[in-house]
Amino acid sequence: MLGPAAIVYWTLVSVHRSRRHECTLVRYSMDMVDPSLTPLPATVSRPERLFPTLTPAQITRIAAHGRRRAVASGEVLVEVGQRPVPFFVVLSGKVQALRPSSGIEALIVTQGAAQFTGEGTMLTGRRALTRIRAIEPGEVIELDREQLLGLIQTDAELSDIFMRAFVLRRVELIAAGYGDVVLIGSTHCAGTLRVEEFLTRNGHPFHYIDLDRDADAQDLLDRFQVTAADVPVLICRGDAVLRNPSNRQIAECLGFNDSIDRTHVRDLVIVGAGPAGLAAAVYGASEGLDVLVLESNLPGGQAGSSSRIENYLGFPTGISGLDLTGRAYAQAQKFGAQLMVAKGASKLTCSRPLYSVHLDDGGRIDARALIIASGAQYRKPAISNVSQFEGAGVYYAASRMESQLCVGEEVAIVGGGNSAGQAAVFLAETAKHVHLLVRKDGLAETMSRYLVRRIEEHPAITLRTRTELVALDGDRHLDRVQWREGRTDVVESHDIRHVFMMTGAVPNTGWLDGCVALDERGFIKTGPDLSTEDLTSAAWPLPRTPYLLETNRPGVFAVGDVRGGNIKRVASAVGEGSIAVAFVHQVLHQ
Ligand SMILES: Cc1cc2nc3c(=O)[nH]c(=O)nc-3n(C[C@H](O)[C@H](O)[C@H](O)COP(=O)(O)OP(=O)(O)OC[C@H]3O[C@@H](n4cnc5c(N)ncnc54)[C@H](O)[C@@H]3O)c2cc1C
Repeated sequence: MLGPAAIVYWTLVSVHRSRRHECTLVRYSMDMVDPSLTPLPATVSRPERLFPTLTPAQITRIAAHGRRRAVASGEVLVEVGQRPVPFFVVLSGKVQALRPSSGIEALIVTQGAAQFTGEGTMLTGRRALTRIRAIEPGEVIELDREQLLGLIQTDAELSDIFMRAFVLRRVELIAAGYGDVVLIGSTHCAGTLRVEEFLTRNGHPFHYIDLDRDADAQDLLDRFQVTAADVPVLICRGDAVLRNPSNRQIAECLGFNDSIDRTHVRDLVIVGAGPAGLAAAVYGASEGLDVLVLESNLPGGQAGSSSRIENYLGFPTGISGLDLTGRAYAQAQKFGAQLMVAKGASKLTCSRPLYSVHLDDGGRIDARALIIASGAQYRKPAISNVSQFEGAGVYYAASRMESQLCVGEEVAIVGGGNSAGQAAVFLAETAKHVHLLVRKDGLAETMSRYLVRRIEEHPAITLRTRTELVALDGDRHLDRVQWREGRTDVVESHDIRHVFMMTGAVPNTGWLDGCVALDERGFIKTGPDLSTEDLTSAAWPLPRTPYLLETNRPGVFAVGDVRGGNIKRVASAVGEGSIAVAFVHQVLHQ
């Protein structure tokens, strides 16, 4: 079953997507709700779903997890920006959810006996978006976040009620304009897409003001003395104005990592929040380990940028990488795993019995066991000015966000693997025409047959074999590309404004600094692939040989795309992430 945060995330993704087209927020639809939730009878009205009244039996079960206490009239139970956010069931009296702004409090809702406070933020451990105040003297049951998580994990009926209410409330907050982030950007600006993706993948609500469409936006920018170079601008939590902020600055401003204690030694630290790392986090946390995931950028990894994954078990019509990894992210949080975003591992200290992962902000986390799931990243083409157009015509992913930027336009895709094939088929749905550039004579050796067939049969896709991209041209945005046809050596110029680079991946192992053995291509060696020399060089101290997926350091595992010999698929990443946890238990018990 998915946690509320999963559904919030899922819903927000839909909200953000629709905004691109309509510049308005969609209202909540029950179609967006996790289908695994027990359906409510049709007679249950929307207000009852949002603000259910608990039965005496349900209240008794909740009371066993928290503490009863009196509240005074006017007492603030939760303040905006507070973290962690406690959860309250009202036993008597009344409480109000309020949104304070410029000294005025907007009333969101008044709740009475047998109703409860809270929304999705409580599960993520992030800051409160609203103020909760008692307006009458009364009595409540108070649960902290850990107690609420414990209850949700053990009581299926209450879990359903809370999840449904939390989702609906978050969406109502967004629809009513109660988000705490405003993003002012332009589709012609590389940073806008990056910031949008960062907020979306973190499931954080934001309002987008499009400079290209909103005539008043310039006045707004002038008010803050913002120049073109400062775009996108992010107004964070109503006051801080961040100009073209890095993902880390956004995470810091929104306090994404504030609840994470860096001082205590973890059972398991996982480096990377792609499918492999998230799977390890779900299994590790659900099996009682104290798990911290470090993610240098945004959750989801490469899979998060896939438009549609059709070969992952259980999704016969496919699922977008964003949806799949968003659910996994929330699932890991539901089981109590903590996730630090926009904070990467920069070094590993291999001394035992504890391993120290050094962070790129200078900090350090100690762990008894480590799973390396840092994956791989796309190769960049050897074109000198490619970075100038990244996010402004050059993309390394083809998700719905990118596809909306090139509706009705011609696009080029570079690469002959499955990700290039998927991108071609997906973009052909909305682009005017797709040119697929591959160096080889065909696709048969590198792409799955089902994709090759779709490409061959699609009227809006032209396969250009033995063709190489050689130049990119434009000012702030890509305007033109040149490619060379290998057979004739003729260079052609095309007014194409969008190029998708899908040209293979290199492992993210630079940060390991020689601590674990790598193969000749830089991927991590594990289990039976390790040679006697590999073990000797690391002074392998144990009588046993390394477990499957274990590196030449005891208790350090490698899973997913970063591992030598891994099949570069979501399923294998997820499988390896979960298998490694079984070995982590063994290591921790030795
Ligand atoms: C566009 C696209 C489409 C795809 N489509 C499919 C498909 O349809 N079916 C399929 O099976 N596979 C598909 N794949 C492949 C699949 O996505 C990968 O095999 C899978 O994501 C690998 O998962 P992973 O967790 O091992 O690594 P990754 O997904 O690469 O995740 C690694 C994570 O680690 C983080 N990281 C890196 N270095 C550090 C560090 N030092 N500190 C902290 N964090 C770090 C990265 O930011 C990243 O989030 C596709 C890939 C792409 C790019």
